[in-house]
Amino acid sequence: MACVRCGTPYGLSRQPLLVRLGGSRIRYVDVPFCARCWRMHESTRSIVFVASGVAIAALFVGLAVSVVARDSVPAVASTVVGLGTLLAALVVRRKALPVVRRASNDETVLEVPGIGEVRVRVEE
Ligand SMILES: [Zn+2]
Repeated sequence: MACVRCGTPYGLSRQPLLVRLGGSRIRYVDVPFCARCWRMHESTRSIVFVASGVAIAALFVGLAVSVVARDSVPAVASTVVGLGTLLAALVVRRKALPVVRRASNDETVLEVPGIGEVRVRVEE
């Protein structure tokens, strides 16, 4: 048993991890996280949510300004700012997630630092 994100054996708790199986299929598997990594996982979830809101707001404001000013520059600029914000949030989010090597219907293989590949059976 080790934290799936940093490999520490201390302060673990089992947490639901969302795994993509390809396409639009997703599944939750219970994996051990240490307190620090799970806090990071939880806080980056809201970072992506907030960044999506900021990106959409920037897009609308930019489009509105472009229509009023009859100039495409504000729309282009706000799209760049919005996408940049979203990308930055996704990069931060990715750092908080464990590395999923393979995911299939009945098992998920995670790459755990210092331990290597760890199979997580799916119980349903
Ligand atoms: Zn950890």
